[in-house]
Amino acid sequence: MAKILCVLYPDPVTGYPPVYARDSIPVIGDYPDGQTLPTPSAIDFTSGELLGCVSGELGLRRYVEAQGHELVVTSDKDGPDSVFEKELPDTDVVISQPFWPAYLSAERIAKAPKLKLALTAGIGSDHVDLDAAIKAGITVAEVTYCNSISVAEHAVMQILALVRNYLPAHQWVVDGGWNIADSVERAYDLEGFDVGIIAAGRIGQAVMRRLKPFGVRLHYFDTRRLPTEVEQELGLTYHPDVHSLVSSVDIVDIHAPLHPQTYHLFDANLINSMRRGSYIVNTARAEITVRDAVVDALRSGQLAGYAGDVWYPQPPAPDHPWRTMPNEAMTPHVSGTTLSAQARYAAGTREILEDFFERRPIRDEYLIVEGGQLAGTGAKSYTSDGSASPGAGT
Ligand code: NDP
Repeated sequence: MAKILCVLYPDPVTGYPPVYARDSIPVIGDYPDGQTLPTPSAIDFTSGELLGCVSGELGLRRYVEAQGHELVVTSDKDGPDSVFEKELPDTDVVISQPFWPAYLSAERIAKAPKLKLALTAGIGSDHVDLDAAIKAGITVAEVTYCNSISVAEHAVMQILALVRNYLPAHQWVVDGGWNIADSVERAYDLEGFDVGIIAAGRIGQAVMRRLKPFGVRLHYFDTRRLPTEVEQELGLTYHPDVHSLVSSVDIVDIHAPLHPQTYHLFDANLINSMRRGSYIVNTARAEITVRDAVVDALRSGQLAGYAGDVWYPQPPAPDHPWRTMPNEAMTPHVSGTTLSAQARYAAGTREILEDFFERRPIRDEYLIVEGGQLAGTGAKSYTSDGSASPGAGT
């Protein structure tokens, strides 16, 4: 019998289950690159249900218990007295999510001698110290592509929210006003802007395809250049480094994984090399930026706006300065956990568990670490240079 320790975000304050706005979610086909949707042998939930919170249990309990395993679900994840730390020493499988990450630091991995699988119900395993996982022989897997389009849509929404000054205009209405001039004094059309995408992976390319019809000029930087036909189809200008990109555009949209090469990339120097009044949208990871450099640049006007849904740590403290900085359009980490995305990552989590327990290979595209090294998607997206994964420090 295995013990599965599953860390999920808390239930809605209004109770569980919620009253759903719709009765179903759209059925979609394969992902844009042809990768198939998750293929578990069965699911024990209705797509469109709230699965990512504690009572939702990712729809796993019936399956896990039918196999004779134990499922512990909690949102209490931080500090030595947390349920997570208390349950960890005899746990075989940890399931966590980027939205409410159970940070698997080297110290915590050292306290979990039975741990064999760290499974991310989502995308982005930087909350796991990958070097420590490699040394401990732990498999790290995530549900690649499950919420890439969800995040791409969110990034496009946040670009528009900033450039069109949507949130302040909405607030005037809520407050009983009709303040046209106050609402538009920072509002622009997106059309004609230069937009720079950092990392043209699954999300980055999906954003480019969605932005193209807006009549923007698209630029990108990635460690690997896209095929010429894709560059021509989307009208892309490639930049050989991030410095060239950020000084050539009005809006920077970040979709790179967090690893030592991207950690604190957007410091005061890089931000000050951007055009005055640039916007940054970052739905990748907060630590790709220097927290206070973003605040300073918004206060000085070097940045016209900052939006994203990734913070560090998560949840952030009540006095985190990004809650009160000017001209922000932040959300809590929700872009990849729409009800639509939850159906996919819950099914993908079940698929990975079935493969793990039935000793079948986990899909290569789901693997981040296996057999003491980066593997599958992890070998393409992450670097392991002996230093700790920056996100796993808490
Ligand atoms: P992909 O693996 O498809 O794409 C990542 C891209 O980043 C690859 O093209 C990779 O290039 C490139 N890259 C790696 N290092 C660098 C670097 N130093 N500079 C520029 N480009 C780099 O990942 P996704 O598009 O699916 O996701 C991207 C990130 O978005 C995830 O790592 C995660 O952190 C975040 N995310 C956030 C979510 C949210 O809810 N907010 C949900 C899902 C993901 P190469 O192939 O050459 O290595």
